[in-house]
Amino acid sequence: MLPRRLLDGYASFRNGRFQAENERYRRLAETGQNPGVLIIACCDSRAAPELIFDASPGEIFVVRNVANLVPPYAPDDDYHGTSAALEFAVMALKVKDIIVMGHGRCGGIKAALASDTAEPLSPGNFIGKWISLLEKPKAECLCHADDTEEERINRLEHMSIVNSLANLRTFPCIRILERKGEICLHGAWFDIALGELHVYDEFAKVWNRLDTPDIAA
Ligand SMILES: [Zn+2]
Repeated sequence: MLPRRLLDGYASFRNGRFQAENERYRRLAETGQNPGVLIIACCDSRAAPELIFDASPGEIFVVRNVANLVPPYAPDDDYHGTSAALEFAVMALKVKDIIVMGHGRCGGIKAALASDTAEPLSPGNFIGKWISLLEKPKAECLCHADDTEEERINRLEHMSIVNSLANLRTFPCIRILERKGEICLHGAWFDIALGELHVYDEFAKVWNRLDTPDIAA
């Protein structure tokens, strides 16, 4: 038996949103999905892209992994779940925008900063291996010796997104499409407590809070 919360939620979906968007679901089933956007987000239950962007079914293709990391292009014998999703989104779905979206108070980022002293959660140490992708930005981050712990986590949350944007460009297909102007890469960071989205300006190398008409009013 599924947990009660899920059963209740499913009933609410069937009677509410599914009823309201019945036609859209049927059309999507018949014609297939055609999302224009790929979002790479964290597994964190507080930072669901579909909720943050108020998305309807079929609108955004979402990959979620621990700490929203993009690994570098590495065709080898390892399993590459995120790279497989990237390959599909770019080559088959032909998305026009890729957004790497981090968030505040990220446990994966916190774990990366503690990885030198913390014990693995299990003998497999899958998280340890995964967040070793952050070694370079972590080393840069630790140069800021005056940071409080909170500032350091916050800094790495942002730097890891920039690092993932660089890793996206190690994929030949993405690099080529970006050069042709057929795909755009973006960095974003979600503040859970405030519900605010900050976006990265790659030219100025600064993060700007995205204002909405409601917030400005
Ligand atoms: Zn996270």
